[in-house]
Amino acid sequence: MLAVIAHRGASGYLPEHTLPAKAMAYAMGADYLEQDVVATRDGELVVLHDIHLDRVTDVAARYPDRARPDGRYYVRDFDLAEIRTLCVTERLDDTGRAVYPGRFPPHTGRFAVHTLAEELALLAGLNRATGRHTGVYPEIKRPAWHREQGIDISVAMLEVLATYGYAERADAIFVQCFDAAELVRIRRELGCRMRLVQLIGENSWGESDTDYDYLRTEPGISELAGTVDAIGPWVNQLYSPGSSGQPPRSTGLTERAHDAGLLVHPYTFRADDLAPGFTGFERMVSFFCDELGIDGLFTDFPDRVRRLIADP
Ligand code: CA
Repeated sequence: MLAVIAHRGASGYLPEHTLPAKAMAYAMGADYLEQDVVATRDGELVVLHDIHLDRVTDVAARYPDRARPDGRYYVRDFDLAEIRTLCVTERLDDTGRAVYPGRFPPHTGRFAVHTLAEELALLAGLNRATGRHTGVYPEIKRPAWHREQGIDISVAMLEVLATYGYAERADAIFVQCFDAAELVRIRRELGCRMRLVQLIGENSWGESDTDYDYLRTEPGISELAGTVDAIGPWVNQLYSPGSSGQPPRSTGLTERAHDAGLLVHPYTFRADDLAPGFTGFERMVSFFCDELGIDGLFTDFPDRVRRLIADP
C-alpha cells in the first residue's frame, strides 16, 4: 500500500508547517504527517523547513537588527518565546513574492510557529479521537550545522519522540535526514531502532557533506541498506522524461533500491508544479506508483493523491 506523506502538511492549501495545515492533511487521510525539525537558541525544537525564519515569517520587520552578516535570520538566534510572536505566511521567495502564487495568499490570517512536541500532541489527540493511526515523518535538519551551533539536534529530537511513544521499529514513524553519516550515527551510536530514511539530493544543493552521486550507485545503495529502511530521492532522480512523445523511463534507482530491500519514498508531488515532462498530476502519480512501483510519496496535495490511488 502506497504511503501518502503530507509534505509540510497540506501545504498546497495552507501555509506550510502550520498546525492548521497538519490538521487539514490529517483530515484528508494522509498516512504520515511530515515535520522538519530545527533548534531555537534555548534548545527547543520547532517545526520549520529552513534553518532561517525569513521566507515564512515577518521576522525581518519585527527584529530588523537580528540578521547575521549574510542578511538571514536564523532560528538558532531566537528563543522560542520570540519565535512564537512571529506571524507565519505562505512561503515567499528572495524578492518577497509567493513561491506558489496560486496557493494561500501571503501575509493573510494568523498563523504561528509551533514546537515538535505540540505537533505530536495534536496528532496523538486526533488519533485518539478518530481511532486512526496516522504516523509521523520527522526530518532532522542540518545536524552538522546544528552541532557547529552548539546543539546535538539528533539526540534532542529522539528524546522528544520518545516522550510521545516513538522509539521502536513497529511504531508509526520514519526518521529522515539528508546527512548519511548522521543516520549511521543515529543507528549505531545512538542505538535508534525506528525506521530510518536516507534523503537523496544533488551534491550541488550543499545540504550536507554526503556524496549523493555515490549513494545512487549499486555499492552506495547496498551500503545504505546496512543502515536505513528507505530512501527518499528527488523525483527527478527516478526517471528520464521521454523526449519527442516518448514515455518517461526509469533510471533504475527504484529497482536498485528494491533489490537491496529498501523502500522508495520520493519527493515532491505538487499538482501546481509538475515534474519535467508531465502534463498532468494524475499521469505523474500513475507513472511513479503503477509503473515504477514506488512505496510512498511526499505530496503537498494529500487529498489529490488519496483520491487517485483510491479510484485510479
Ligand atoms: Ca523535509
